[in-house]
Amino acid sequence: MQPILKIDLASGKTEEYRIPEKWEKDFLGGASLAARILYSSLTRELDPLAPQAPLLFMTGPMTGTSGPTTGRFVVCGKGPATGLWAESNIGGFWGPELRAAGYDGLWITGKAEEPIYLWLNGNKLEVRNAAHLWGQNTYAAQERVKEEVGEKSARVCVIGPAGEKQVLFASIMCDHGRMAGRTGMGAVMGAKNLKAIAVRGANQIPVFDLAKYAPLRSESNRILKQDNEAKVLREIGTAGAANYAEYLGAMPAKYYSRGAFENVDNISGAKMTETILVARSACQGCVIACGRVVKLGDKAKRKGPEYETILGFGPNLLNDNLEAIVDLGELCDRYGMDTISTANTVGLAFHLFEKGVITEKDTDGIILKWGDVDAIERLVNLIGRRKGIGDLLAQGSRRFAAHFKVEEEAVQVNGLEVAYHDPRGVSGMALSYATSPRGACHNQSDYFFVDWGHTHESLGITYFDRHAQAEKAANVARHQDWRTMFNSIVMCIFANTEPEMQVKLINAACGLDWTIEDMLKAGERGWNLKRAINNRMGLSRANDKLPKALLEPFPEGGSAGFEPDIQGMLHAYYDARGWDAETGKPSRKKLLELGLDEMARDLWG
Ligand code: SF4
Repeated sequence: MQPILKIDLASGKTEEYRIPEKWEKDFLGGASLAARILYSSLTRELDPLAPQAPLLFMTGPMTGTSGPTTGRFVVCGKGPATGLWAESNIGGFWGPELRAAGYDGLWITGKAEEPIYLWLNGNKLEVRNAAHLWGQNTYAAQERVKEEVGEKSARVCVIGPAGEKQVLFASIMCDHGRMAGRTGMGAVMGAKNLKAIAVRGANQIPVFDLAKYAPLRSESNRILKQDNEAKVLREIGTAGAANYAEYLGAMPAKYYSRGAFENVDNISGAKMTETILVARSACQGCVIACGRVVKLGDKAKRKGPEYETILGFGPNLLNDNLEAIVDLGELCDRYGMDTISTANTVGLAFHLFEKGVITEKDTDGIILKWGDVDAIERLVNLIGRRKGIGDLLAQGSRRFAAHFKVEEEAVQVNGLEVAYHDPRGVSGMALSYATSPRGACHNQSDYFFVDWGHTHESLGITYFDRHAQAEKAANVARHQDWRTMFNSIVMCIFANTEPEMQVKLINAACGLDWTIEDMLKAGERGWNLKRAINNRMGLSRANDKLPKALLEPFPEGGSAGFEPDIQGMLHAYYDARGWDAETGKPSRKKLLELGLDEMARDLWG
C-alpha cells in the first residue's frame, strides 16, 4: 500500500505513516482499515469536535483503478452527534486523485489557528489561508480553490457554512454535489478550521497484478453495464425505487406516521426523467451513472436529487412538489448538510408543532404546516446559518427532542436520523438500523434489497419473506459482513457485482488468494472491530433499539398492521453474531477467532 499522509494542523508538521502489513491483509482498506488505524485514538472521553479528534480520509485498494464503482473514498472519525464510530462514503473524483498523488489516505489532527485549506500537489503540501473562503457555499468555494491553485484538474473536497458552524450533520462535498453526507464529518472539518483539501496527482495508481486485474475489470464493467438494476439506476436514478417502496408500505410519510403517499407519482424517478432531467452524471470510472442533472425554470443546470432527498423533503413532509425538492436538496448541498438528517430533523419539528409540543414562539414565528415549502425552506436556512430555532435543530433530532423533553419522539438511533426505508415494510431494516455501528444507517446493510427478493446464493444470503422476523437475523449479519467489505474496498452498494467476480478483483488488486468465505470473514472482522470501538466508547446492549415510531404499525398501505419484533430479532442476531446478549459486546471467543486479540483484552480484561 501507499503511505498515509499524517498532517497536524496545529503545528503544520507532516509525516508519512506506513500501515502494518498484517492490518492491510486483515482489513484490506477503506473504513475497516481506518477503524484499525484509529482504534486507540477513539476513546470515550474524546470530544469529536476537539482539536485532537482525528479525521481520516481513506481510499480503498481499487480506488481510481476504474474497477466497478471504485472511484470512491470514505471519511472516518468520531461522530459529533452520536459519539460513536463514524464513517461516510463518498464518490466523485477526489479519492482517485489522492491515490494518484501517492497517498492512500490523509490523517488530519489538530486545529489550525485560523481558517485554512490544504493544497496537496503530488507529495508537496501547502497550507493556505482560507479566511476569504469562510462563509462561501460548497460550490463557490470549490471553484475558487481550483482557480487559486491554478490546476484545472485539481479535485477539491470542501465544507460549506454548515460545517464551519459545526451543524452536527454537516457534510463534506466534492465535485458536482458528491457528498460524505452522514455522521457529521463536515462539522469535524469545521472544528479544525479546515475549509477544503485540494489534491492533484500524476502517478500511476498501483495495482498488484495489473495483467490479471485489467481483463477482470473490463469484464465486470461490461456485465455491470448490462445488468437490469444498473440500467434502471441509469434511466430513472435511485428515486426509481420510490413507487415500489410506496407500494410495499416501506416508504414512510408524514414523519414516519403514514405507510402510504398517494401522490408518489409526482415525485418519482420516472417523473424526473420525463420532466426535468437533462443529463446523467457518474463518479470516476462508474458505468452506472446514477447521478441526475436537471433544469428548472431558470434554465440553469443543477444536481437532481436521489431517493433519500426526495423522500425526506417529499413524503416525509407531505410535499409532492418535485421542483421544490430539487431546490431544497440544492440548498442543503450549498450549506453542506446531510439531506437525510436535515429533512428528518425538520420533520420532527413539524411533528412536534402539530402535537402542540412546540409553537410559533419556538419557531421564530414560522407556522409549520405539512407540505408548506416556504416553511421547510425557512427552517433549512435557519439550520444552515444556526440562527433562531435553527441553532437547536442543528444539533440533530435527538438533542432537539430532548430539549423539549420528548426524546422518544425523535426517529433516530444513537443520534443518527433514520433514513427512508421503513422496517415496517422491509423487516430486515429493523436490525440494520438497530445494530449499525454509526446509528440508524441504511448503507452498512441495505437489507431492503434482500427483502425485495435480491439474494446472493454464493454468500449464503437467501430470501425470507419481507415480514419474516427473527429467522432472518443470521442473514442480516452475513449481509452486513458483505457490505463491510464494500466499505473496505470502498465500492458503491449500487454495484450489483457478483461475489465471485468481486473476490477475483480483490485478489488481483491486492495479491491475495481469498475465497468468498475469506472475504466474508474479513467483513465480519471489520464489523466486530467497529463494534468493539463503540463498546469502548460506551455503547451497550441498551443502545440496540428502534425509535417508538417504527414500532407502531402503519394504519394504511402495503404493510398496514405489521410491527417489527425487534427484541426477538436482536436475540437471534446476538446468537448469530456470537455476541454477549447481556452486554451487547462481541464475546472474547468471537474476538479471538477473528484475530482481534487486543480488542478482546480491552473489552474483557
Ligand atoms: S452508482 Fe452512482 S453513486 Fe455509485 S459509483 Fe456510480 S455514479 Fe457513483
